[in-house]
Amino acid sequence: MTRAFDVSEIRKEFPILARQVNGKPLVYLDNAASAQKPNAVIDAIANQSRTAYANVHRGIHTLSNETTEAYEAGREAARGFLNAPDTHGVIFTKGATEGINLVASSLAGTIQPGDEIVLSVMEHHSNIVPWHFLRERHGAVLRWVGLHEDGSLDMDGLREAVGPRTRMVAISHMSNVLGTVNDVAEVGRIAHAAGARVLVDGCQSAVHMSVDVQVLDCDWFVFSGHKLYGPTGIGILYGKADALAEARPYQGGGEMIETVSMDRITYNEAPHKFEAGTPPILEAIGLGAAIGWYRQFDQAEIEAHEHALYNRALEGLRGINGLRIHGEAPGKGAVLAFSLEGAHPHDLAQILDRYGVAIRAGHHCAQPLMTHLGVSATARASFGIYNTEAEVDVFIEALEKARGMLV
Ligand SMILES: *Cc1c(COP(=O)(O)O)cnc(C)c1O
Repeated sequence: MTRAFDVSEIRKEFPILARQVNGKPLVYLDNAASAQKPNAVIDAIANQSRTAYANVHRGIHTLSNETTEAYEAGREAARGFLNAPDTHGVIFTKGATEGINLVASSLAGTIQPGDEIVLSVMEHHSNIVPWHFLRERHGAVLRWVGLHEDGSLDMDGLREAVGPRTRMVAISHMSNVLGTVNDVAEVGRIAHAAGARVLVDGCQSAVHMSVDVQVLDCDWFVFSGHKLYGPTGIGILYGKADALAEARPYQGGGEMIETVSMDRITYNEAPHKFEAGTPPILEAIGLGAAIGWYRQFDQAEIEAHEHALYNRALEGLRGINGLRIHGEAPGKGAVLAFSLEGAHPHDLAQILDRYGVAIRAGHHCAQPLMTHLGVSATARASFGIYNTEAEVDVFIEALEKARGMLV
């Protein structure tokens, strides 16, 4: 049964939202960098630690079995969340960054000089740097796809960039700066038609829209727990069965092997093959709790709420002289990057902090995008499930005051 969407009730479950910052009520608009955690997540981790904790999988004793059950329930929650066909393709990682590094590194042994990786200029550094490793170390060629004026992806450019040498198209589902939502199903069709694989960076889409990896038909999909109201140190790498079969393990150690002798090893099956060593047990359990908590609500209601916040903020920003909004692609998500003429984004963020308003300022781990936009940094407000219209108004008022001080 879905739970009625009531933002004031939701807020009560996030203890941190009750605190003050610089004598003002906290207005947390840095959700795209990391979101806050509800009691359901905090308590799941604490209760597990207090009542049923041991290492997973190898145990015969009760505590180990109970912990393993809770850990694997976290995996099953992630499977359901992505609608993956089974849990073999649901790998726990430290986060999206590790997931992408795992895929890039598992590909490394098969890269020939001149093989191509196609990327868009809106990618996060997490979805750029691991591919640069393949360029530096294995002679891969990076091919970049540009954007239209409104921040949408140049699909014709993408069709041109993908060719017989393409091995991977690595693309964000939703930009953490522009908010642009990419048609990754179409990107996948283009990649597959050329015999290439597609990796979808779902860090932002997992939080702002519903994701079905079978509908997207992607080979790989990654996201991080801490942006989905869960803990840090945990993320998911989903892999399609044939992509997983092809991928070599990323790290070696306990749990990922079947047998080890002095002259040979055999591997465990996926997902364990890709999870060497003691995993982030409590974090995986916390992620399961976050997904369970989040999925109480109707996704359409969450999206409607976030879009209302976004539209209200957009209207407020448009009323501020000299303010430029970066990214207005149709159907974009609740992330607003902007610049104010005559004011450095860092100064804006610092002044807003005095009013209790947390926004981010910087390059947002997207330097190629900053170059494309012709700026070195931007300010960014990003909305989450617990933000309110009143908070948007505080943000806009604080921004107007900051403009008065700086410009
Ligand atoms: C946050 C983010 C990442 C990196 O996630 P980590 O949790 O830092 O590994 C990658 N891509 C996008 C679009 C992001 O927003």
